[in-house]
Parts: sequence; structure tokens; C-alpha cells
Amino acid sequence: MKIFTLDTTLRDGTQGEAVSFTVEDKLAIAQKLDELGIDYVEGGWPGANPRDKEFFSRARELKLKHARLTAFGSTRFAKNTIDRDPNVHALLEAGTPTISVFGKTWDLHTKHALGITEEENLVLISETVQRLKDHGREVIFDAEHFFDGYRSNPAFALRALEAAKKAGSDILCLCDTNGGTLTGQLSEIVAEVRKRFDGVLGIHCHNDTDVAVANSIAAVEQGVTHVQGCFNGYGERCGNANLCSVIADLELKLNHEVIGKEKLANLTSTARFIAELANLPLPNDQAYVGRSAFAHKGGVHVSAILKDSATYEHVPPETIGNRQRVLLSDLSGRANILYKLKQHGIADRLSEEARRELLERMKHLEFLGYELEAAEGTFELLVREALHPGFHFFDLVSFDVSTKMSGSRASKTTATVTLKVQDGVHSATATGHGPVNALDLCLRQCLSSQYPSISDVRLTDYKVRVLEPKKGTAARVRVLIEWSDHRRSWTTVGVSENVIEASWHALVDAIRLELIRLVEKDESIEKAVEDYCWGV
Ligand SMILES: [Zn+2]
Repeated sequence: MKIFTLDTTLRDGTQGEAVSFTVEDKLAIAQKLDELGIDYVEGGWPGANPRDKEFFSRARELKLKHARLTAFGSTRFAKNTIDRDPNVHALLEAGTPTISVFGKTWDLHTKHALGITEEENLVLISETVQRLKDHGREVIFDAEHFFDGYRSNPAFALRALEAAKKAGSDILCLCDTNGGTLTGQLSEIVAEVRKRFDGVLGIHCHNDTDVAVANSIAAVEQGVTHVQGCFNGYGERCGNANLCSVIADLELKLNHEVIGKEKLANLTSTARFIAELANLPLPNDQAYVGRSAFAHKGGVHVSAILKDSATYEHVPPETIGNRQRVLLSDLSGRANILYKLKQHGIADRLSEEARRELLERMKHLEFLGYELEAAEGTFELLVREALHPGFHFFDLVSFDVSTKMSGSRASKTTATVTLKVQDGVHSATATGHGPVNALDLCLRQCLSSQYPSISDVRLTDYKVRVLEPKKGTAARVRVLIEWSDHRRSWTTVGVSENVIEASWHALVDAIRLELIRLVEKDESIEKAVEDYCWGV
């Protein structure tokens, strides 16, 4: 059966504490959701927020192929007439084909929050829906606090739905606004409503009891055909139902048609795109779309998935555009790393002894806090060194780095490096934008006479993570440096108690890698590394 989706990442999602989007971000997300096949994109509350008002005026330029842009707002205020209500006016001004309008269905709210009678509340609902219908809009009536309202006074809650329906509402959406309803109870209430109302019923769940996705699925099982939620579960307090999981569950487990199997393969990239714009890391363990959703670490699991991936995977990862990953860790058997190296024909080129040594080195580095899955450059270096143990490019004699600040002027960092290279001892001094840049310049100068072509590479990102935060400034730090040439990018890693020393290790690994790549061009290694470190 076709199940319609309404994404409210741009409205309810932005009510999440850490979530904020610029108007440009919102436009880009709306476009992306349209491409994914979402049916309704709720863009904001034009009557309450100037940024949302601007969004709707600029959204007229969007060329949405499928999705219906939806404006959100409340029923008219009790003190205003329908003609003079600024919120209703702003909803129509937004110019969207669909409007979500929320009204009270809980007697507690009507009496205490609005201070009006039941009859007055029903008039607010029907007049507002009627007005929006008179202007030719598709209307979704969001029955706010419906489940709490139904438990408190079912007749009252149902009369509110009836008023909306009579006034012409196209969709009656039952909202678990406080997110406090458990699945069994919610299911029973939806079934009761389904008996009394024909037409499209919707569900809007919050995650305060950690069952928002389960509740949305249960509602569909009771005959709801319109599901609201947010990408990555963003939203007020503990978030809304995570639409990624809802879509995947409905498509893959219940065989409903939501966005279609073909578009489902874009689910992971869409979730990551939105997380990127929200500037929030996508949780690794997010169901279906997280990096770890199909990552195998335990040695037993790995040897089993090598035979048949269904042994430890509930769906094929490609169906939602994710990928299987085999991890290396001190938990795993040797199967994990050899799996990747074998796939690319590298394992056969290593002696039994060299394989064991490579694995031991990797385990030791991970124990020290190196994160090789996030540092494909360092991993590639280890593999290349195992294949070519004879290469040795340089030794460090000494390095020195100092940063001077005087008054309010910008700081100045100078480094001096002395290296022993094949053609002799070289020293260089350079000034850079900070210590890493200064050391990098020195290293390249020292090596330039022996290896003139190493200067193609740029440093593009630099990240520091404290490994034992409880130890304060004495804690070890992990430095990840990202590099890029005109073709691709990679990351190297260093760990130390001293942030400069950790950076130095990451820097030296990057330089050694460049040199070994120059001497030994071997594309199968690049492929194995890409596969192992994918998606970081
Ligand atoms: Zn909500």
C-alpha cells in the first residue's frame, strides 16, 4: 500500500536543541527531500518566525518535482476573528499547496492554556480549516496532544477531529506531542479512531519514551497512511520519529510503497547530507544509515559474513545505500584485515610472517589510541611498508618549533627541522600559519633535493581529540590530519601526550606515504584502503 511521508526536519526538526539551519540550508534540504521522493516537505511556521517567512518566499524558486511544500501554523487565536488573524493570514501568504494546521484536542489545554470552552475551541478549528479550504489548499489537521487528550476525555478529543473533518480537512493527523505514549496504548487508540473516521489518517510521534519509530509503524499497521517525522530523528526535546528508519521499516519489512525501492538506495546519502548541513555528526550506530549499521568486528561474525552476509545482516546494506564494513580491532581475529587484503589480492603477496607482523603493528597502534579506520593514510602506509620492508626514506635528527605573540598582533610560528636523508643531513627553517604548517614546510624543504616532486600535496583539515578527558591537560591527544592532491584525499593520525608531537607523527606518516607512493605505484593498495576506510 502507498504510505505518504511528511518530513518536518525543517520545522519540528529545528526545534531540537542543537539543530539550526540557514535559509540556504533549508532550501537545499527541501530540494534533497524532493529528490528522495518525500511526499510533503514541511518548511516552517511563517506566522511565528521571520526566517521561515523568508524561506517560503524564496522557496517559490525551487523546482520541486514531487514533494508538496507545506506551511505549518496554529488555528486562529481565540481573541482574533478569522479575517484579522495574522497567523492564518501568514499561512495563506506562504503560498504553499498544502497547509498543516494544529488545534487543541486535550481538554486540559483548552481550559488551562487557552482558557476557552470546548464549544469555542471547536469553532476555532472549523473556522480555520474552512478558511484554508476556501482558498483551495490541501489541509492537514494536526490534532495536538491527541493521545493525552483521548486518554483524558475521549469524547472531547473525537469531537475536535470531527470539527476538522466537517470543515473539509483532507488529512487528520494524530499527534503524540509529548511523546509519552507507549506502543500498545497508541495502537489501541489509533484503531478506535480508524473505526470512526474514513479518509486519510496521519501519525506524528515524538521520541520521549524512545518508541517514536515503533509507534509510527504500529499506527500504520492500524490503517494510518500518512506518517510524519524528521530525518535523523531531530526534533524538540528527544526528537521526532526518525523518518529514515520509518521509511526503511515500511519499505523493507512491511513491503509498503513509501519512496520506492529505487530511491531507497539514496536514503543513506540523504541522511548524511542533512547531518552535514546541521553540522551534527551522524551517530555511527544510527539504524540503517549509520557507518556502523553493517560494520562487523567480532571475529566469529566476520568469518560468518564472509560465507554469507545474511548471517549477521538483517537487510542487504545496498538497499538503503549503506555498505558492509569489516573492522579491525583487538577483539577480532586475523580474518578481518586479511579479508580486505585478500579481496584486493594483497594478502597473497605477504609472507605468513609479514601478515602476522602487520596485524600486530595495527593492533598495537589501535591500543595506543590510533584510529586506523579514520586514517586511511596511516593504514595505507602500514600496508605498503609491510609489502616493501626495504624502504627507508629519512631519519629525524631534531625539530624545534616556537610560537611568539606580542600584544594584539597575530602570532608567528617558526620551526626548524633537521633530517638525515640518503644524500646527507639537511636542515630547514620556515615560518608558517601555526606549528603544523611550519613543520610541514621544513620537512618538504629538507627532502626537496632528494625527492623534488613531493610538493603536490595540501593539508586540508586538522582535528584534535582528547583521549582521556578526565586527565585534563595531561591527557593523550589524537591528531587527525587530512591531505589532498588534485585527485583524492586521505588522513593520517598521530597520538601523544603532546599535541605538537602527535601532529608531528601524523605529518611524518603523510610524508612517508607520499614518498612510498612515488617510488611504488600500486593501485590495488589504494583500492583495499578505500574499501577498509570507507565512509569516514
Ligand atoms: Zn511535533
